[in-house]
Amino acid sequence: LKNPRILILGAGYAGLMTAVRLQKALRKGEADITLVNKHNYHYQTTLLHEIAAGTGEEGRVCLPIQNVIDTRRIRFIKDTVLEIREKERQVILCHGEPLHYDYLVVALGFEPATFGIPGIAEHAMSIRSLNAAKRIRNRIEGQIAEYAASGAPGETLTFVVGGAGFTGIEFIGELADQVPRWCAKYGVPRQHIRLFCVEAGSGLLPGFTPSLSAYARQSLEARGVEFCFNTRIRSVDAKGVLLEGVAGERRIEPATVVWTGGVQGNRLACGTVFTATRGRIPVSPDLRINGHDRVFVIGDCSAFTDPGSERPFPPTAQIAVLQALTCARNLQILVRGGRGLESFAPKLKGAVASLGSRDGVGLVLGVPMRGRLASSFKAIVDSRYLFTLGGFRLLLRKSKPGAGDMG
Ligand code: FAD
Ligand code: NAD
Repeated sequence: LKNPRILILGAGYAGLMTAVRLQKALRKGEADITLVNKHNYHYQTTLLHEIAAGTGEEGRVCLPIQNVIDTRRIRFIKDTVLEIREKERQVILCHGEPLHYDYLVVALGFEPATFGIPGIAEHAMSIRSLNAAKRIRNRIEGQIAEYAASGAPGETLTFVVGGAGFTGIEFIGELADQVPRWCAKYGVPRQHIRLFCVEAGSGLLPGFTPSLSAYARQSLEARGVEFCFNTRIRSVDAKGVLLEGVAGERRIEPATVVWTGGVQGNRLACGTVFTATRGRIPVSPDLRINGHDRVFVIGDCSAFTDPGSERPFPPTAQIAVLQALTCARNLQILVRGGRGLESFAPKLKGAVASLGSRDGVGLVLGVPMRGRLASSFKAIVDSRYLFTLGGFRLLLRKSKPGAGDMG
C-alpha cells in the first residue's frame, strides 16, 4: 500500500507550523509530506511593518525553510502554486510538475482587500510580503532623498497610510521613528515631511479600549502623525487620493499611499476553487471544508466561526499557529486510519500593537498594558513563536545580533 500523500501549500505561520508538527508526530514512512512555498525562506509577516519603514532588518524577519524542517522527512519545493484541481486531487505549479495529494492543506495566506476602491491595486502600496515591504521602504526613502536633491522646495512631502487598524498603526509608528533619521541623513527639515493616517471609522485600533486607543493616538501625534478620522479613501490615481469626510470630498497629492484598509484570503484558493464568504473559506470545526473531506484550510485563507460570538475569528498569526497545531493532529489521526477529529477550540491571549520600537499598547488576558511593557511583551510573543517552531536552537540563532539568517 502506498503512503498517504500530504501536500501543504504555503510556508507562512500556518503552513510551516503544520509541516514541523507533522514531522514530529508521524513516524518515518507513515506519510509522504510535501511543502510548497514561493520562496525558500519563511518570513514573519507580523514584523513586515518594520521592513516597510526601514527600522527592521531582513535577517531578523526571515529564516531559511531548510533550517526548520528536516528535508529527509519533508520534501520542500520552492515554486508558485498556480491552480488547485480538487476533482483530480492535483496542484499545478508555475515551474515544476503537477503534484498529487491524498490530503491537502491550503495555507496560502492573505492579500490586501481593496473593496473595489478604484486605483488601490494600481497606485497604492501594501505590506503584503517581504518583497512588497522592501519596495515600500525603498520608495519612501528614495522620495525623501530626491526631495533633498531637488533643493528641499517649500512644498511639503506627504505620505498617506490608509486605515488605522493594527497594520496601519504599527506601520505609521515605525515610520514616525524612522523619518527623523532619514531627514537627518538627507538634510531635510522634519517639518517638511507630513505623515497622514486616514481612517474611515471614528478612532484608531478598533477593538481596544478607548483609553488604550487614546494613548496610542497621543503617542503617535507627539511624533508628528496627523490623523483624519471619519474619512474614507474613495479612489487613488497616479497623482493623488480622493478623500470623503463629513465635510465632503477633497483631494490630496501625497508622494506615496500605503493601503492598510483590510485583508482577505489569497484569491488563488478563495473563490476560484472553493467557495469563499467575504474573501475567506468557511471551514468546519475540524478545519476541513464541508464537502471536501481531504482539504484543510488554515490561516488567513480560512474563516472559522467562533461559536461564542458566531462571527469569524480575525485573521491573525495567533490563530494561524493554533490552527496549524489542530490541523497536524487531525492529519495524524487520518493517516493512522482513525476517526473523530479534534475540533478547533483556541484559547486566545489577546493582542498587542507596537507604536514604533519603544512604545505599544495591548490587551493581554483582559489586562491593558502600554508603553515599554507592551512593546517588550510583543518581543516575547515573537520569541515564543520561534521557540514553538524550532526550539531553543532556532531562538538562539535568531536572537544573535545582526543574525543574517538568510544564508
Ligand atoms: P502568511 O504568513 O501570509 O503565509 C502565507 C505563505 O504562503 C507565505 O510564505 C507566501 O509566500 C506563501 N504563498 C502565497 N501565495 C503563494 C503561491 N501562489 N504559491 C506558493 N506560496 C505562496 N497577527 C498577529 O497575531 N499578531 C501580530 O502582531 C500581527 N502583526 C501583523 C503585522 C503586519 C504588518 C501584518 C501585515 C499582519 C500582522 N498580523 C499579526 C497578521 C498575521 O501576519 C497573519 O494573520 C498571518 O501571517 C497569517 O498566517 P498565514 O500562514 O495564513 O499566512
Ligand atoms: P483591519 O481590517 O483590522 O483594519 C483596517 C482599517 O482600515 C479599519 O480600521 C477600517 O475602518 C479602515 N478602512 C477600511 N476602508 C477604508 C477606507 N476606504 N478609507 C479609510 N479607512 C478604511 O486590517 P489590518 O489592520 O490590515 O489587519 C488585518 C488583520 O491582521 C487583523 O485581523 C489584525 O488583527 C491582524 N493584525 C494584527 C496585528 C497585531 O496583533 N499586532 C498587527 C497587524 C495586523
